[in-house]
Amino acid sequence: MTVEITQALDLIEEAVTALKVEIVPIENAVGRILAQDIKASQNLPAFDNSAMDGYALSCSDSEKTLQVTHTIFAGDKIVDEVVAGKPMKIMTGAPIPKGCEAIVPIEDVDVDGENITFPKNIEKGRHIRYKGEDIAVNDLLLAQGTKVYGFHIALLASQGISHVQVYKRPKVAVFGTGEELKMHFESVAEHQIYNSNAPTFLARAKELGAEVAFMGSAKDNLEDIKAHIEASLDADLIITSGGVSVGDADFTKEAFDAFGIERLFEKVNIKPGKPTSLGKIGKSWVINLPGNPLAALINFELFGSKLIHKLSGNRASHLGTIQAVSKEKLSIKAGRVTVIPGFWDGESFTGTRKRSPGMISPLIQSNAMLILGQNSEGFEAGESMKILSLHAVHSSYENKSIINE
Ligand code: AMP
Ligand code: MG
Repeated sequence: MTVEITQALDLIEEAVTALKVEIVPIENAVGRILAQDIKASQNLPAFDNSAMDGYALSCSDSEKTLQVTHTIFAGDKIVDEVVAGKPMKIMTGAPIPKGCEAIVPIEDVDVDGENITFPKNIEKGRHIRYKGEDIAVNDLLLAQGTKVYGFHIALLASQGISHVQVYKRPKVAVFGTGEELKMHFESVAEHQIYNSNAPTFLARAKELGAEVAFMGSAKDNLEDIKAHIEASLDADLIITSGGVSVGDADFTKEAFDAFGIERLFEKVNIKPGKPTSLGKIGKSWVINLPGNPLAALINFELFGSKLIHKLSGNRASHLGTIQAVSKEKLSIKAGRVTVIPGFWDGESFTGTRKRSPGMISPLIQSNAMLILGQNSEGFEAGESMKILSLHAVHSSYENKSIINE
């Protein structure tokens, strides 16, 4: 069955579910997907406290010249009470004493020896951080299915959470097929090539949070491909490349059929990468990608990455688009859904000029891809488009203006 790109993605969205869970310390949770909602068990701040180094007082002390007898520090217990005419000195983070209506910062008073003159119109509540104003007990901090980033750790640690429940990482097994393939640690003869697809899928799957196993390269015969499948069946996802077209040495699909693979789709209406197929043997999902490196990579990014997100329990399982403008005129022949890799500089997208399915050089500058529907004939320079980011550009080749004036 040939499906459209969106149908293929919908099928994956519906059929693939997250793996079992495990518990990890929060410092090891970065990059993992939460298997539980994290709710606040404590208010933040936990008690009313001062936002400034200053004076805790009653608002009726406005414009008065008074003396201070006591200083409250961060970490002190709340013991004292402020009354009108008797302000106290207080440090940032110290608990607000009873009777305190506002904090006047040190910068806002006049000091003359022991005498301190306060400003007029002291506003009630000024510079007081109230209990629970940041986070209240029961607030949802991180939802199940959220990928944990470094800055999330503050949310967990401030609640005294040391361990969280996350989904197990998917195990991904990768092998190539092709008589001509040599491993990157072997020497190649003139008629042979390096297996560049398998190491690439392994690297990308790892970047996406999977545990990976390299199963090598299978020769173009049923027995060897079957042996590689057999050895990969403990994986949650098997990724292969090559041997899926109509050539006389294309045995990949037949070998998987021998294991009773149930296929969700057999081809995708996409250029490049039409022979991409997806199925399942027992608990193992199987994606067979084409051998041509650019075609294989594009289809890995569209379908393989989504499979890994779904197996990982990631709620953000859909491909996210970003808005860009076309850097230059881009013409294509209408009729096929076409994917063009290219470079996004944070604002505009430039498609690679060389982009045959068998090439690797388009990867030199590509960090994004553009999908054109079958009726599209391309874009004019400056025309807006949506693109998919392959890896977000957090740093730039150019020193651009970063402040919104
Ligand atoms: P196939 O899909 O097996 O017909 O292969 C299509 C093209 O991709 C051929 O030129 C292969 O040599 C090449 N190819 C297949 N597998 C790989 C691989 N793992 N790494 C690099 N190129 C490959
Ligand atoms: Mg081949």
